[in-house]
Amino acid sequence: MDIYEAKRHTMVERFVKGLGVTDEKVLDAMRKIPRHMFVQPALASRAYDDYAAPIGSGQTITKPYTVGLLAQTAQLTGKEKVLEVGTGSGYTAAALGLLSDKVYTIEKIKALSNSARKVFNRLNYKNIVCLTGDGTKGSAKYSPYDVIVVTAGSPTIPSPLARQLKQGGRMVIPVGNGKQQSLHLIRRKGERFVVVKIEECSFVPLMGEHGWKEKPPKY
Ligand code: SAM
Repeated sequence: MDIYEAKRHTMVERFVKGLGVTDEKVLDAMRKIPRHMFVQPALASRAYDDYAAPIGSGQTITKPYTVGLLAQTAQLTGKEKVLEVGTGSGYTAAALGLLSDKVYTIEKIKALSNSARKVFNRLNYKNIVCLTGDGTKGSAKYSPYDVIVVTAGSPTIPSPLARQLKQGGRMVIPVGNGKQQSLHLIRRKGERFVVVKIEECSFVPLMGEHGWKEKPPKY
């Protein structure tokens, strides 16, 4: 229990369930996570609003609905090994952590990765491992993954990430040429990848060797 409990429930009802996320396990996870601990203290009282609050280093926390959509699309059962690319505040990783067995989350900005690790420690979220580096290369060390979730927009599907998926594994990734992308669900079947487009979305760019090499136009 904390002073934001009521706000958190309202956020889930209005901005997650109310906007179309139906998976009760996802909604329940989001009712439990103290989102105010993942934003800067000055913004804590606005942490449950329907917006992508700044988290420092020019980045933002993913909006509540989008986190719900990512987690729902990943279809987690509690048993998976997950790689998240784009730790940011750590909030999406926290949701994935409650819904799966283990989460490796990789962030290119060291300060964000360090700050997310501190929040996970404070909350005693023990099944999340923070890595720093270019997430477009994935993390071969802990691969293969049942699920990969990318929380930044990529021009194409990074081939190292596809290779690090288990057989039958799935990847959730925003793909597009600029500020607007389409959320893709990709399933590995042997050496084939079956792609389903879920819905339009808008993420910050995935910067890296297998993503955007320089900032794309219109961001
Ligand atoms: N999901 C996060 C959350 O809930 O706070 C927010 C994600 S934010 C929209 C996208 C993050 O992706 C940013 O923190 C950015 O630094 C990170 N990012 C962009 N390109 C990356 C890359 N190649 N490897 C790792 N992280 C990357």
